[in-house]
Amino acid sequence: MPWIDKDGCVGCGICVEKCPIGAISMDDERAKINMEKCIHCGTCHSVCPQEAVRHDSEKIPENIKANVEQTKKFMEACVKYLGDDKEGQKCLNRMIKHFNKEKIVAEKTLEELEKLRYE
Ligand code: SF4
Ligand code: SF4
Repeated sequence: MPWIDKDGCVGCGICVEKCPIGAISMDDERAKINMEKCIHCGTCHSVCPQEAVRHDSEKIPENIKANVEQTKKFMEACVKYLGDDKEGQKCLNRMIKHFNKEKIVAEKTLEELEKLRYE
């Protein structure tokens, strides 16, 4: 999924003009993508002269950090509200199960997507 690097965007509006389905607008002189509308065509990546339209994969470290922080918060809350350190470890196990499920969904989805390749 594309995203706009607000520090790199100079508000030239080229991506707004070139997006084939009008999914990009200007917000406070910076481009903003409506992800509900975006069809992931990649045009905005190609046309931006500032390389301000970035790839989803660049957010992987940020995503991992957010997942770990979220897990820590849940663990702390389980200890606090259930009153036992063991509850924190149970919470951790549940979060590990959750992310394992996400991994399986991603792997199986990739298998199915490979079947969509044209001959
Ligand atoms: S083309 Fe690039 S610099 Fe221009 S508005 Fe779009 S994201 Fe910003
Ligand atoms: S990927 Fe395509 S549809 Fe999505 S915002 Fe960029 S140009 Fe528009």
